Amino acid sequence: MKVMKLALALALAAGIGSCGKPSGPGAVDAERLAAADQNAEWLSYGKGYSEQRYSPLEQVTTANVGQLGLAWYAQFDTDRGQEATPLMVDGVLYTTTAWSKVFAFDAATGKLKWSYDPQVAGAKGFDACCDVVNRGVAVWKGRVFVGTIDGRLIGLDAKDGKVLWQTQTTDKSRPYTITGAPRVVKDKVLIGNGGAEYGVRGYLSAYDAGTGKLLWRFFTTPNPTGAADNAASDKVMRERGASTWGDGEWKKTGGGGTVWDSMAYDPTLDLLFFGVGNGTPWNHQRRSGGVGDNLFLSSIVAVKPDTGEYVWHYQTTPAESWDYTATQHIMLADLNIAGQTRKVVMQAPKNGFFYVLDRATGKLISAKPYTNISWATSVDPATGRPVETPNARYGAGPALAVPGPLGAHNWQPMAFNAKTGLVYIPTNVTPFAYTDDRGFSYKPGAWNVGVDFLANALPTDAATQKAVASMIKGQLVAWDPVQQKAVWTVDHPYFWNAGVLSTAGGLVFQGNAQGELAAYDAAKGAKLWTYKAGNGVIAAPMTYQLNNEQYVAVMVGVGGGGQISAPGFMPNRPRLPGRLLVFKLGGKATAPEFKVPVRPAADLTNVNSTGDVQRGFALFHQNCQVCHGPNAEGSWLPNLKASPMLTTPEDWRSVVIEGALAPRGMASFARFMTPQDAEDVRAFVISVAKAPAAAPEAPTGARAAPAAK
Ligand code: CA
Repeated sequence: MKVMKLALALALAAGIGSCGKPSGPGAVDAERLAAADQNAEWLSYGKGYSEQRYSPLEQVTTANVGQLGLAWYAQFDTDRGQEATPLMVDGVLYTTTAWSKVFAFDAATGKLKWSYDPQVAGAKGFDACCDVVNRGVAVWKGRVFVGTIDGRLIGLDAKDGKVLWQTQTTDKSRPYTITGAPRVVKDKVLIGNGGAEYGVRGYLSAYDAGTGKLLWRFFTTPNPTGAADNAASDKVMRERGASTWGDGEWKKTGGGGTVWDSMAYDPTLDLLFFGVGNGTPWNHQRRSGGVGDNLFLSSIVAVKPDTGEYVWHYQTTPAESWDYTATQHIMLADLNIAGQTRKVVMQAPKNGFFYVLDRATGKLISAKPYTNISWATSVDPATGRPVETPNARYGAGPALAVPGPLGAHNWQPMAFNAKTGLVYIPTNVTPFAYTDDRGFSYKPGAWNVGVDFLANALPTDAATQKAVASMIKGQLVAWDPVQQKAVWTVDHPYFWNAGVLSTAGGLVFQGNAQGELAAYDAAKGAKLWTYKAGNGVIAAPMTYQLNNEQYVAVMVGVGGGGQISAPGFMPNRPRLPGRLLVFKLGGKATAPEFKVPVRPAADLTNVNSTGDVQRGFALFHQNCQVCHGPNAEGSWLPNLKASPMLTTPEDWRSVVIEGALAPRGMASFARFMTPQDAEDVRAFVISVAKAPAAAPEAPTGARAAPAAK
């Protein structure tokens, strides 16, 4: 009898009793998540459903932040980009690394509790426009959910990392990827995907948290065949979406509109908000014949989480033509505007305008540029549409526009502090020369953007290059969303810096490209504390309290696009393994200096190629530069000028055509290049490797040297 009572008590304690209240590791439920913004943990990607990334913790303050020291650290087995925000639930810190791996640590000591590797095939890295990154997990009722770069959604047991279910969320024959963190609303795991640079059709899906069964799906572009999808989006697509598309390549590509990052949820209104990406191809003329707004590209969409039923949308960039996604951070807040408390949605999408919308209706309250932009002057308050500048759509010839495809703000999360009333935005100024690719036709599996990257080799004259280089920068902007103006800004020497954390201790934490984690005064922007991480930081920090000590944690490791070496950009750096750094007041731990891998450049003295250098130049900039950087100088993937594979045509071909390095993410290019093409590229890379000083300096993301033919 006693034994049975004990067994019953244990069963209840383990959360399998009839009351339905979860307990044990990862016991997050609706009640806990609804209160998450105000507690000492970090229960969801953006902390709570509002995604404000503001912690009420105030043990670490502007007065004592100088005593912040390392409490513990962990080092990972990948040197690719680290974008995750860790979660801290019941004393366990959950994070992910590149290649979608999951780790659970004791949040006080750093002891590894478990890890999980979804064993993604390396060649899948080819389909990731911007590195094989992952932004984190969701935790709900004893389960940990991760989306993988090969399109799976996986439910793990929070106590040991064992797989409970996994579901393929994408068509494996198309170049879909998942980099974003899932969110959970009402026992539904929400996940989108990426791939709009290549050619996919975007959607958001809801899966049953217990079984992994698909519950609903909302497509963001019409079905190119004209057929119904039997999806949550069918009605609105039929009534409002389909008529906003013209004739064009979207019918082959799927139109893009991927939902690759932002979501937020308002439990009172019972509305789920998500951000939609760019079109495929980018170029509206090529995508849709220059016709129509192309709903729901570049939009914030509000739906009912139970069914996916459409409620409202706001399109930030109608007829998107620049890779101006609206997938950037969506944040909910209550703001006092003209004496009234307004429930708002805030977003700083790539296009450079800061939007404040009424979150019940989606109506525009205000929009102002949060940084330097050149493609539009303002947002018309009556229509909500940007007022574009002449030739912004580059139909009359190449147009140098700010921002470029990297956006005035990208995936790096913002943070809000209700006490200062400020939103802290990590911004970039990165110009790009948009040129219509008039001969564009869809190439399955390749980049399909309808913009001529070869022509973007311009400008070649030194004066223009210098002028453009001087524009490029990164900033941390403290933005007043009511007045729609900057209150303070911090300039960074390079662009592509980190996401942001805001705390009640009056602090704003942000990492940067040159490898620091820094704390700033939230009111004035003064830099109060710096830690040298030894490697660039792009992920957002988070904070939690445990055993009466406040911790600040951040993932370290560059990548994720944007790490291009050129004037104004962070110079080439060694590839270093990712790390998780966790700080507390008086922390005395030390992380060892990184061992910089020594990879001597190949001796090319007697190495030559019979290939055509000029042809190789063109092929390189059309196929290789997005990952390997203009003139093969390296981006987030290696500087090819130093590659030992250059030494013989056979070595080069084994990689480029035969896929010898596919397990590391460099898939075969045999679909896109002949062996002769590959040899021409080798001839070009050898030419720049032997004469680096001769390569003209051009600073845009697609810099290239000699005049293109
Ligand atoms: Ca994009």
